[in-house]
Amino acid sequence: MRIETLAVHAGRSIDPSSGAVTPPIHLSTTFERSKNGDYPLGFSYSREDNPNRRMLEECLGALEGGKEALVLSSGLAVLTAVLQGLEPGDHIMVPEDVYYGLRQVLHTVFAKWPLEVTYVDMTDLNAVRSAVRPTTRLIWVETPSNPLLKISDLAGIAEIARKANAISICDGTFTTPVVQQPFQYGIDMVTHSTTKYLGGHSDVVGGALITRFDNYLFERVRNAQRYGGAVPSPFDCWLILRGVSTLSCRMRAHLESASAIAVYLKGHPAVEHVYYPGLPDHSGHELASRQMAGFGGMLSFQVRGAREQAMAVAANLRLFTRATSLGGPHSFVEHRASIEGPDTKTPQNLLRLSIGLENAADLIADLDQALSRVTGGTGQLV
Ligand SMILES: *Cc1c(COP(=O)(O)O)cnc(C)c1O
Repeated sequence: MRIETLAVHAGRSIDPSSGAVTPPIHLSTTFERSKNGDYPLGFSYSREDNPNRRMLEECLGALEGGKEALVLSSGLAVLTAVLQGLEPGDHIMVPEDVYYGLRQVLHTVFAKWPLEVTYVDMTDLNAVRSAVRPTTRLIWVETPSNPLLKISDLAGIAEIARKANAISICDGTFTTPVVQQPFQYGIDMVTHSTTKYLGGHSDVVGGALITRFDNYLFERVRNAQRYGGAVPSPFDCWLILRGVSTLSCRMRAHLESASAIAVYLKGHPAVEHVYYPGLPDHSGHELASRQMAGFGGMLSFQVRGAREQAMAVAANLRLFTRATSLGGPHSFVEHRASIEGPDTKTPQNLLRLSIGLENAADLIADLDQALSRVTGGTGQLV
């Protein structure tokens, strides 16, 4: 079955007790044993498993074309559980522009753990190859990256990981399986912050890990979920599964609008540079065209001038909300350097946009008024 169909049907069935088409929310924390002491329906206690959680896991596993999925209470709970599954002294490779939350986890929660971390430019396969050590157990990849939308070669990285006897993990939050399916390129596991496009409505926090095959790291994340207890509530699972039903048409709308907005911004005299893999002059355009189905709903641009001009554009916007996060119905603008702190390499005049589900022409009109107020309508900075 194709992804649009799986997004609606996978993991669901008509509720046998009522005929309900939309699944009920199972709030019960505990489930009855049979007379011989077993659990005939497979559920015993809601931390260990819950019907709403299982539905969501089955659906996400099917969408990625994986063997199995686990859902946890947030995207970062998944990343933390993966790192906890490593052994003391293990070496991991992460992109130099990795999602800043993962960097935070490494430098706070794991500061005292003997984990060796190398930050690598993952767009350069030679750099990845030469960073491999005998102790490398995990190669983490994000493509497109955040916020510069750099593209890394999934097949190339998966092969390097396989030869090194390391597990490759792709953070699929920016793309969702509608836009990119890392397992097709040999990547071993995929993570998602389901808080973003999968939930899709900016109203629930969650995370997922999907695996292509059985492996020790996936089993350790399962232990972190069931016994470590970083579980999502049944209602959270229900909300995310509901979001997934409309995922494929939402993603189409997000990426069509993002393409139009990227082209508009590229032509504006007050814009210094646009980062969107759909633009033919983007350094990763050719690879993105092969590896992705569409170029996603996220883009960044540098305003001509400095931090001050970028902040002024963000302040002038009316339809774009100044907020972090992405993947919801509302369009967001964010000054990433402010969030990422003093050590950031993100340019100070860069704004990141999460393109929502509003009409693209309305969004362009909003950007136009915001940019022209900074340039005084002349295209020259005032
Ligand atoms: C938001 C995000 C996360 C973290 O997810 P939470 O649900 O906020 O914990 C991880 N990776 C990427 C790429 C994200 O955008």
